[in-house]
Amino acid sequence: MRLYYDDSYLSAFKSRVIDQRADARGVWVELEDTAFYPESGGQPSDRGTLSGVPVEDVQADEAGRVWHLVTRPLAGEVDGGIDFRRRQDHMEQHAGQHIASGAFLEVAGRDTISFHMGQEVSTFDIAGRTPPTEEELRLAEARANEIIRENRPITVRWAQADELDALGLRKPPQVAPPYRIVEVDAFDRSACGGTHPRQTAEVGLVKLYPAEAVHDGFRIRFYAGQRARLDYVRRAAELDRIAARAGVAVLETAATVELRLAEIDRLRNLATRQRRQLLDQEADRLAGGAGSVFLAFPDRGPDDLRELAARLATRGVPLTVLTGTKDELGAIVLQRPAGDGPHLGEALKALTAALGGRGGGSAVQAQGALPLPAAPLLEEALKRLGTL
Ligand SMILES: [Zn+2]
Repeated sequence: MRLYYDDSYLSAFKSRVIDQRADARGVWVELEDTAFYPESGGQPSDRGTLSGVPVEDVQADEAGRVWHLVTRPLAGEVDGGIDFRRRQDHMEQHAGQHIASGAFLEVAGRDTISFHMGQEVSTFDIAGRTPPTEEELRLAEARANEIIRENRPITVRWAQADELDALGLRKPPQVAPPYRIVEVDAFDRSACGGTHPRQTAEVGLVKLYPAEAVHDGFRIRFYAGQRARLDYVRRAAELDRIAARAGVAVLETAATVELRLAEIDRLRNLATRQRRQLLDQEADRLAGGAGSVFLAFPDRGPDDLRELAARLATRGVPLTVLTGTKDELGAIVLQRPAGDGPHLGEALKALTAALGGRGGGSAVQAQGALPLPAAPLLEEALKRLGTL
């Protein structure tokens, strides 16, 4: 018999091993009665001990028999102990989901089509082709928390097949009768085999987060009970840090961040424009000599070198070789104007074949990273490219 069906709070019980089997995961025992919840209906299995021996998983087989994975074989009478902190968390999530799903149906007319309880965050999927609006989420969350605050009884009863129509279930049964019906008083009635608290206030709090599209609907992430309180504490701490750093009140952080991001965009655009102007001026100066340009810039990276080299080519510099630094390596850029001339990509490949590193490019532009500092890299490059 499944003792949790009638009492979700039962955390210590006595029973007797009636069967045992083994598979690749270890030894599984079946008990005459058990308070352990086997994984099902989106709810993970319980943990705990049988006469001090840890229970690492609980699964029901197709015949409905409940098997406990134990770390060593057991026989005869056993004392069962449920990890009640874990159970209570599952009760909070499960009842929280019933209430949130009922609220979603009430405020938005959207059915819940599936439920998954995760170790960190739980989800339920709602039907429909359009995502729930912010307003629907807000209303559903508010309604769910109202039901929690009203501390309505959550009751369990059993029903036969001919009673189903009269019951008006939000979620019809997916098992054979008799059906276990879980009711949040005058609010939500579902067929469910899971564990729930006796009163809605025990759920404490429900928090819903915006949905993401899934195969046949939208997935809503939610926290209930202690998880929702911890989520609140973590988010509040994070927000406090941001507000303190920005020197504003917590409820002004969003507006402040908006302003600062706009300011960053403006400054970034300004910096880009000024950087381009400086590169233009530098290119004008370097191209004035009419010959090729060979320079080492230990402080400059490949992007900067590439932009300068391109400007030199448009100003008619016949060949540009620039070196700089990229991470631990030397950076090199080769550039010439379009038209007839040596294939610079091939030339750079020959250079990397001789010196190591990597690089390549087109006939007119090539870049690479080689294991030499900027100045010796330029020297080596010019020596080997001398035949160009
Ligand atoms: Zn349930």
